[in-house]
Formats: sequence, C-alpha cells, structure tokens
Amino acid sequence: MPQLIDAFARKFYYLRLSITDVCNFRCTYCLPDGYKPGALGNKSFLSLDEIRRISRAFASLGTEKVRLTGGEPTLRRDFTDIIAAVRENPEIRTLAVTTNGYRLARDVAAWRDAGLTAINVSVDSLDARQFYAITGEDKFTQVMAGIDAAFEAGFEKIKVNTVLMRGVNDTSLNSFLNWIKHRPIQMRFIELMQTGEGGGLFQRHHVSGEVIREQLLRQGWQLQARARSDGPAQVFSHPDYLGEVGLIMPYEKDFCASCNRLRVSAIGNLHLCLFGESGIPLRDLLADDGQLDDLQMRIQGGLRGKRETHFLHQGDSGITQNLSFIGG
Ligand code: SAM
Repeated sequence: MPQLIDAFARKFYYLRLSITDVCNFRCTYCLPDGYKPGALGNKSFLSLDEIRRISRAFASLGTEKVRLTGGEPTLRRDFTDIIAAVRENPEIRTLAVTTNGYRLARDVAAWRDAGLTAINVSVDSLDARQFYAITGEDKFTQVMAGIDAAFEAGFEKIKVNTVLMRGVNDTSLNSFLNWIKHRPIQMRFIELMQTGEGGGLFQRHHVSGEVIREQLLRQGWQLQARARSDGPAQVFSHPDYLGEVGLIMPYEKDFCASCNRLRVSAIGNLHLCLFGESGIPLRDLLADDGQLDDLQMRIQGGLRGKRETHFLHQGDSGITQNLSFIGG
C-alpha cells in the first residue's frame, strides 16, 4: 500500500478531520465570544459524501487513525452517519472524536455502535464553577455524566484534554491525579498555544508542561514508549494509578520531529500543520467517486510542501486565529 511520506522522511498514519467550525462553548482560550456564523462566506461544511471520499482517499494512502474534531463535531445532526462512513474503510482501525462532551450522555452508545473506537473529552477543571468560568457553559455535571456513560457504553479508556493555564489550573495536578487513581482515564495536559486572537491570554497564562513533568517524575511516574499512530503526547504511568497522564508540549524542541498527523478543515482544505498555511483545496476533487486517483495525487503532492517545523517559538501562529478553525 502507498504510504504518505514527506521530505523529512516522516510518515503520516493519522488524519484529523474537522467536520464543523461551529461550537456551543465559549472557552476563554478559543472562542471567548462564541462562534460567529458567516466567517466562511457562502462555503458550507463538508457533506457526508465528501467526508466518505476523503476517508477513502486517506485510507488508501496508509491512514490508520482518524480523529473527528471541530468546532464541536457532535453538533452535526449526521454525526453518527459520519462515524459509520469513515469506518467503511477497514484500514482505519481507530476512529476517535474530540468533544466538549455535552452530547456524550445522550448519544455515546449509538456512536459506539456506529464504529467509534476512542473518545477525548475536554475538561479544563474539576471544579464546576471554574469549568463554567472557562467554558462559558454551566455543564460540568452533564459532561461528567457523559464520561460515565462512555464507560458504561463499553469504552475501556477515555482521554481527557486539559489546557494548562498559569493561575487557573496549573496547581491542580493532585486533584486530577486523585480523579484518575481508580479510573482508566488518560489526563492530557496541553500547553496553551498562541493563536492570532489569543495573544494577550497567552502572555498571561502560558506555562510550560515542564512544571507537570517535574512533579510527575518526582512522584514516581514513568514515561511510556510511543506507537507509530499515537498523537503527540508524552505518556506517563504509575503502578498505583489506573489512569495515565499525557503531556502535550508543542513548544518543546523537536516536537515536530515525530509529527505523523495531517489535517483537513471543515471546508475541505488539507493543512500540513495546525499552524501556518492557508491549506490546499481538496473540495473540487470530492464531488464524485471517480476522482479518487486525482484526490490521492493532490494529497501526496501537497505533502511535499510540509515544513520541518512550526514557527510558534517565534510567535508565528500563521493564519490560525483560533483552534475552532481546524480543530486543536
Ligand atoms: N470542541 C471540541 C472540544 O472541546 O474538545 C473539539 C475542538 S477543540 C478546538 C480541540 C482541543 O483543542 C480542545 O481540547 C481544546 O481545549 C484545545 N484547544 C483549543 N484552543 C487551544 C489553545 N489555544 N491552546 C491549546 N489547546 C487548545
């Protein structure tokens, strides 16, 4: 089978597919004023058939893991059908979603039946009031019930994303660790990333994941080996804990050396990096099943332009105004 490979010999097994820019939360670091319709002009989000064709093309190019993201992907009424369409490809063995969790309690069993294999839920605080202050939505209890429902539906492990913010949750490690002591949850601390709209917040709240890493190592947590389609986290485990801790540190030297991910935006542009470029349009090749060969060639050709690293260190977040655009 052909394999997506770039000029730096990195192989790409993992596609992050955004299926909507719309979000119902107003996280301080992402869409503090809420989603504003109209940013796309008259462009619509990818249809179910377009998503099916993208999945087929990537599956035939060696992709074994797809993550559905957004915006809030579960806002799509056809979300369950989208899961089934991506899983029509046997090569795609892992199909994950990143969600704010507000629909989990109601729908997670149906998603699992349709073929969803992994879930990441974003929870920035275990304190209901602080959760509300960060997300703009008083839905902490609902999201927690959703995580329980996901376990009941048969998911054996759930990942929880927490954006690490100085003065907000950077001293809460122990309460998160208590929470995962007897739960098979992988807590993932993501360093706050600078976006076009989030410059001021970044200056106030960015803190290196190093503060967490030091505490973990001091408490006997050990770094695990990484598999080829794993995401960017450094994962730690501890014999006394059922849960694990992942650290995502995009500002760390060599973060990009292990990049194995490509992204497609909700309007069908291929992005070679979360930060940086305006994307390679794929949409004109998504109208008909007969365009598969051309679509594969455009994806493979586009990959030749992937840069060695992002330029976040220099404060350059490229065109990325916030992460609802191509999904963090
Ligand atoms: N709506 C879904 C959710 O809440 O998980 C999926 C989309 S959201 C953009 C994906 C992830 O990106 C979330 O875990 C979110 O916390 C993270 N994120 C958004 N903006 C970020 C930023 N500036 N720095 C770091 N992580 C960010």
